[in-house]
Amino acid sequence: MNSPPFVGQIFSSYSDALDQYYGYASKDGFSVRLGFTNYNTSKVDGKKLLVMRRLLCSKLGKVGLLHPIKLGKRRKNAVSRCGCCASIKIKREAMSEKWIVKNIILEHNHPLTTPSKVQFLPINRSISSTSILLFNSLSEVVNVPVSQQTAYFSSQVGEIEHMRCT
Ligand SMILES: [Zn+2]
Repeated sequence: MNSPPFVGQIFSSYSDALDQYYGYASKDGFSVRLGFTNYNTSKVDGKKLLVMRRLLCSKLGKVGLLHPIKLGKRRKNAVSRCGCCASIKIKREAMSEKWIVKNIILEHNHPLTTPSKVQFLPINRSISSTSILLFNSLSEVVNVPVSQQTAYFSSQVGEIEHMRCT
């Protein structure tokens, strides 16, 4: 049960594939973030059908997007991202219900949480998409120094997301 996935592994359904990977992730000690998707239009009924999904490690993210913040305390539950590339890509098999593992990166570039701590992983505490938009607009348009962006960003989010890996 919940052994590492492998390329060519077949799942009977999309939810089965997700269940298996989430199970493996929680056993291994990392949390999963939903990644990119691809859709195809069905020739039968014209509906868009999910045909590809990537599942990423929650620590995937830009390294050093936020500079280390000198406020002394580090929030225990802050999501730290360190550009971890661990991920899996699953594809629907020829518009059927079957899904196949196409690509896997199993290695993480950070320590994994011990199983006993898994339930406390901050899986629901990632930065909201609104905040990300806000942050991106600050970096791209306004060209404010990163330290000021960080301060502004933090005041918007109400907490500081520490971006360094432990
Ligand atoms: Zn990772």
